[in-house]
Formats: sequence, C-alpha cells, structure tokens
Amino acid sequence: MSLVRFPESVVSCRNLVGGEWQAPTEAQAQDVRSPYTGALIGRVPLTTASGVAQAVEAAKVAAHDWGLTPLRERTQCLLAFRGLLERHLERLAHLAASESGKTVAEGRAGLLKGLEVCDFALSLQQLDSGAHLEVSRGVTCEYRREPLGVVAGITPFNFPAMVPLWLFPIAVTLGNAFILKPSEKVPLTACALGELMVAAGYPPGVFSIVHGGKPAVDALVEHPDVKAIAFVGSTPVARHLYAEGCRHGKRVLALGGAKNHLIVVPDADPDLTPQAVVDSFTGCAGQRCMAASVMLAVGNVQPLVEDIVRRAARLEPGPGMGALIDRGAVDRLETAIAKAKADGALVLLDGRGRRPSGELYANGNWLGPTVLDGVRPDMEAARLELFGPVLSIVRVTTLSAALAVEHASPYGNAASIFTTNGAVAQTVVEGAKAGMVGVNVGVPVPREPFSFGGTGESKFGHGDITGPSSLDFWSHRKKVTRKWSARSDGSWMS
Ligand code: NAD
Repeated sequence: MSLVRFPESVVSCRNLVGGEWQAPTEAQAQDVRSPYTGALIGRVPLTTASGVAQAVEAAKVAAHDWGLTPLRERTQCLLAFRGLLERHLERLAHLAASESGKTVAEGRAGLLKGLEVCDFALSLQQLDSGAHLEVSRGVTCEYRREPLGVVAGITPFNFPAMVPLWLFPIAVTLGNAFILKPSEKVPLTACALGELMVAAGYPPGVFSIVHGGKPAVDALVEHPDVKAIAFVGSTPVARHLYAEGCRHGKRVLALGGAKNHLIVVPDADPDLTPQAVVDSFTGCAGQRCMAASVMLAVGNVQPLVEDIVRRAARLEPGPGMGALIDRGAVDRLETAIAKAKADGALVLLDGRGRRPSGELYANGNWLGPTVLDGVRPDMEAARLELFGPVLSIVRVTTLSAALAVEHASPYGNAASIFTTNGAVAQTVVEGAKAGMVGVNVGVPVPREPFSFGGTGESKFGHGDITGPSSLDFWSHRKKVTRKWSARSDGSWMS
C-alpha cells in the first residue's frame, strides 16, 4: 500500500485560456482540502460567465486552424502528451489521490486507463481513414470526418485524471478545441494535465481549463459557440444538463450516477467471489460509479456472506482503502446507514466511527466498510446511490427475482453475476438491464477500445463516451459525392 504524497505547498489553480495560465481575475475562489487530512492543498477560482466567454473566444480562434491541421500532425501532439503522461504518471497518481481521497493504486489505474484512451486516439490514423468508393461509373462517394469546433467536458471529483482523459485525447485529435471544466473539488490534477498538454506542443487555445461550479457550467451550456458537451457526474445534474444543452442546440452526452448490482448464486466460486465483492464495494471507499452497491443473494449463499463480512471487517480505513471526499459525504452515509437500520436492515458490519490511527488522518473523512443484510428492494439503501463503502444485501429466492430487482433500478451502469455455471451467467448477460455486465468480475469496466457507458439514468444521450461511437459524438461525417465528366456509360445515378 502506497502512502499518499501530498503537494508540498498550497497550489494556486489558474484557468488555462489561449495557452496562458491566467493570473487570478475571478472575485471568488475556494479552498481545496485533502480528504485524507483536511489540510489545505489548493485554491480554485470560481469562474463566472465572462471568464468562460474569454476561454470560448480563444478556443474558437484556435479551433479554426487546428481543424484544418491534418490528422497525422494533430496526432504528433498527442504522441508527445502520451509520453509526458507516462513519465509523470507517479506524480499525477499521488496528486489525484491527495485531492480526491482515492488510493494511489487507483490513481495509477485511472492514468493507465487514460493512456489506453490515448492509444485509441493515436490509432485513428490507421483505423479511421474514412471511406472512398466508386458508387457509379465516374462517380465517387467519400466520408470526411470534420471537427465540431469548440467542445467542452465537465467532470466529477472521483476520477480527477481518468474521466478528463476519457474525453480530451479523442476530442482534440479529431480537430476540436476542448475546454475542460473539472470538479472544483479536484482542480489540481486538471492543472497538471493542462501543463502536460502545453508541454506537448498543442497550439494555444486547443486545450483550455476553466475552473468553477454551477455558474461556469451554465455559461458553457448557454454559450452558442460551444457545440458539444460531455458531462460525467451525478444523475440530477446530468439530467438537467442534458435537457439544457439540447435546448441550446448542442450535442450532449451526460453520464450520471449508478446503483450497481452483484448477483451471487450458491455455486459461485468461494475463492474468487468474496474478495471480488469486497474489493468492489470498498475500493476507493465506494466512490466509483462502477462500485458494487447491492448484492442480490440468490438462495442459500450464507457461507459467502459470512466470508464477505469477515474480509471486509479486516480492512482498515486509511490510505489502503481511500477517504470520502468531504465531511458532507460522511454525514450523508452515516444517516443512510441509520435509516436502513430503522427501516429494518440488519447491520452485519458497521463502519461508522472507524478511522485510521495517527495524528495525520485525524481530520480526514472516514467510514469503514459497512454491510447491511435483509435490505428490502423498496428501502432507500437498495434504491439510492450512496457512493460510499456500503453493501446492501437483498435476499431473493430465484435468479429471475434478482433480475427483476436489477431492472427496477432507474440506473443502469453495471451488473455482475458470480457463478460457475455458464448457463446462469448467460441468463444474466442477456437479461440484465445494465450497460456493462460482468461475469465473476466485481467492477466490470471494459478495457479500451471496448467503450464505456451505461443505460437508464446512468446515461443521457446516445452512444458511449469512449470507443468507436465517441468519434461520431465529437465530429461530423461529411459525405462528398464527386463527378468530373459527363459519361455515356453511367447509370441513373451518374
Ligand atoms: P456532481 O454531479 O456533483 O458534479 C459533477 C460536475 O458537475 C462537477 O464538475 C461540478 O462542478 C458540476 N456541477 C455540480 N452541481 C452542478 C449544478 N447544479 N449545475 C451544473 N453543474 C454542476 O458529481 P460529483 O459528486 O463530482 O461526482 C460523483 C457522481 O458522479 C456520482 O453520482 C457518480 O456515480 C458519478 N459518476 C458517474 C460516472 C459514470 O461514468 N457514469 C463516472 C464517475 C462519476
């Protein structure tokens, strides 16, 4: 387990506009505190509509020439960025951990996933060279992929590097000028990514950062020169942003929250299953949109439940498990556990009040692993996204009853089946509502180029945020039909 290296001094985050790090111009700024220690590690400006307008203006200027730059040349900048990202991976992993509360290992994993997205974008010159066909004698049709212009990404606190990296390597390689609005809770990693983008040689304005909260987001959504917005965050904001973005005539893809289900049947592998369940609901203190939240225990799986509780009880809150983002999250989760108990759930393992030893972590935001049993599908613990290390066990007697609970959830990010029976696995693969399904995998995040995206209220909009469909989100495909001479041997089409 790596101890988190915190920034040595308080980082003053700045907006990156037109290739320049702007001196603070915003009247308002807010503190950034490490979830591990409560210590001040940064300050972030809260950009207003006029600050956003400046960034869009600079991006619009940059988008013109960048959009005319051949894909091969654009790719060279990404190649340089990828090299820098790899070189600075360790530093960025610690930075992401120190401000988001995730573990350093998870910080690293997010960056490695980001490198995979870069690889996908780098491969576009081989994979996406368009299509050209003689469709009739003397007539050809061709696809030209063209950028949209200025586009934006609005990202959540829990993946300070990975979620931005899902977006901008692809959007920028396709010739857009990209504006990142990172979560105001984790702006430090975004600035570090911005430094690498500048060092990689991107022309000024091709990659910009505006910091802030709702006013900055509203300004991006309302700005007529922002042509597309990708959002990742909670469902209420995703739903609102999707509706507002569409109302303003933009393309929007908005990924929301989740309530992920792990279905465990009696023949589940006893060596593999309990640890996979524990890792899934406790990893990053449960602050992953793909984390297990509900375990649908089918029939008699009591020995597995007991093993899960035993293993979870051994975990210590601290740098090996991750911290909750802020005090508000701790309060919200403690209230949710109390409510579940009042609703009739049995608290098999109670993480309330557990914290790491040592003065360093005294002001951190902690909750130990918590397991609730006998949760009914109608209880809040079974329905609401809790976003913490809490597993709600819902007991059911059949696989179809388990799938019915999964279907009743408005969300649809992840579902996994734990079984040694291929037919049972196939029933869940075919029958689950979720967009990402696992077989004996606790966190079924697809590896690139298999794309990332859920269903239901976990995603508003069409297509996935990475992989092949992201190309159509971040670009137009222009169709060109050519004829150079009149021909007597042509068809009706000529
Ligand atoms: P959040 O919705 O609070 O914030 C996300 C972004 O929206 C931030 O940049 C924030 O500044 C901005 N924002 C917040 N409130 C806003 C408002 N009222 N109007 C406009 N913008 C607003 O989410 P969070 O707490 O940062 O992240 C955790 C959530 O994100 C969880 O629900 C988690 O499931 C979800 N998430 C989903 C995925 C996915 O792939 N589906 C991935 C990561 C996180």
